[in-house]
Amino acid sequence: MQIKRKKTRVINVGRLRIGGDNPIIVQSMTKTKLEDPGDFRAEVKELIDCGCELIRVAVPEKKSVNNLRKFISNGIFTVPVVADIQFDHNLALECMDIGIDGIRINPGNIGGQSRITEIIEKARRKKVAIRIGINSGSIDKKILKKNNGSIVDSMVESTLESVRLLEKLKFFNFKISAKASSVMDTINVYEAISDRIDYPLHLGITEAGPPFRGSIKSSVGIGVLLSRGIGDTIRVSLTGDPADEVAASYIILGSLNLRKVGVDIISCPTCGRTAEGFRQVVYEIEKLTGGIRKNLKLAVMGCIVNGPGEAKEADIGIAFGKEKAAVFLKGKVVKRIDKKIAVDEFKKNLKRLI
Ligand code: SF4
Repeated sequence: MQIKRKKTRVINVGRLRIGGDNPIIVQSMTKTKLEDPGDFRAEVKELIDCGCELIRVAVPEKKSVNNLRKFISNGIFTVPVVADIQFDHNLALECMDIGIDGIRINPGNIGGQSRITEIIEKARRKKVAIRIGINSGSIDKKILKKNNGSIVDSMVESTLESVRLLEKLKFFNFKISAKASSVMDTINVYEAISDRIDYPLHLGITEAGPPFRGSIKSSVGIGVLLSRGIGDTIRVSLTGDPADEVAASYIILGSLNLRKVGVDIISCPTCGRTAEGFRQVVYEIEKLTGGIRKNLKLAVMGCIVNGPGEAKEADIGIAFGKEKAAVFLKGKVVKRIDKKIAVDEFKKNLKRLI
């Protein structure tokens, strides 16, 4: 089954085109401080190396703008960069002078109509995209009261209010995020928004949690929405390494056949038949293939019962027996080796393929 994506408008964030038939973009956010140049530079490089296509950076104070300016002029961002601004509209205005491609604001907390107008007018002049970022944790109390405490209705109302505001200013180069920490609320909010407007939507579950729990919650929430054709960019938010956020995003998109980037590993869950040492081999292969961007299907199977069947379908496959392991390349057994050298053999074949 191929998912039919909802047609959204196309917007420009730097050289990226988001929405319409463009690929669903994977984003993440830096977690190191702009004041720690070595760490920050290393984090940005890691994010770009692992396939992050748009990087958001928190800009909490004036000195952050100056630090971000240095990084941008040093050319460390080879993908578009978005400044994340909360409350202080002056920071938003200053950021637009340092070469950023987008700004994330919540129009509801930036300080009234005249400040929003100022930001939007400058964004228009500087060709900076806007992300309207509505979050379940910061809904206006008046809107919440008006909607009898319903988070979903309040987030939808806040979003549509912000959209109308930007449209009134004849500014259309924006996308929207409306994330809740509850998976079901997030799904309901995005569905309601998607029914009403056609701006590109950035999906995510906010404050999803530590890596294991957060990846599952994000996969369910983002996955349900994507499967219904909703979503133009995604971020998996984890209390952890941003490279894991990117890896998880691609696995979600790959599982739904929406993007094909990187390695898919098929490995069996193991059982009483599994050959000794198998699990360790799978972990090593996962580590080994983490940064590979080429589309490859790898299979590592723990016994000779189901192993050969799966291994045959893969670019490289290994099916473990008691003493030996059968190596498959593009569906054909090419050799049987001592399973102790399985990882080395895998490495050799991988090298040849990439
Ligand atoms: S492939 Fe073999 S070892 Fe792995 S779970 Fe299935 S039966 Fe068990």
